[in-house]
Amino acid sequence: MDEVLLLTRAFAFAAEKHVHQRRKGANAEPYVNHLAEVAHLLAVAVHGRDANLVAAGLLHDVLEDTQTTRDELAATFNEDIAALVSEVTDDKSLPKQERKRQQVVHAPGKTDRAKMLKLADKTSNLRDLAASPPADWSTERRLDYVRWGRDVVAGLRGVHPWLETQFDDAAATAERAL
Ligand code: NDP
Ligand code: ZN
Repeated sequence: MDEVLLLTRAFAFAAEKHVHQRRKGANAEPYVNHLAEVAHLLAVAVHGRDANLVAAGLLHDVLEDTQTTRDELAATFNEDIAALVSEVTDDKSLPKQERKRQQVVHAPGKTDRAKMLKLADKTSNLRDLAASPPADWSTERRLDYVRWGRDVVAGLRGVHPWLETQFDDAAATAERAL
């Protein structure tokens, strides 16, 4: 598929699927803002040369947070995008705490492109935490979230230094804002 068509289709698809969701920050930003940020970080990271990865950035939360299925992604986009999004999707049958632990354990075994996608996602979440933290999160809980993000990212290093720097800057800023 032509790359402009692919990316605009992914953006429209994600916007529609997440239409009723908001971010958890005090400002309740539209969910799509997070998807746009993750996709743009990836686009810069690959110098515009991996449209499937950028599309997966737009779509990275549809399996976890909407009714979308992997088959639907494969049919609407392609197998590479469906596989990438699946790789960054938690097993929702597990309790929250266990899902968080599994992210740390499984990070080192992800493919390089999934590692980049997870780095971009964690970077965006820590930027959000600094700029618009969930109002009901105590300082301790925010601190826990930054620590957990660092633990996950420890297993994602060695693939893309620039994305790692973006994450490290976001983590440092989030900690200063606490
Ligand atoms: P999470 O801790 O999973 O919420 C963080 C996730 O919400 C992010 O990974 C991100 O995921 C998304 N998100 C949306 N908006 C924001 C934002 N503005 N800033 C940062 N992240 C945002 O929260 P849950 O509500 O699911 O909480 C459950 C977990 O929290 C449990 O593990 C529980 O044990 C723990 N907890 C810890 C406490 C503490 O004091 N330490 C207290 C209570 C619970 P995405 O990109 O996928 O949208
Ligand atoms: Zn996300």
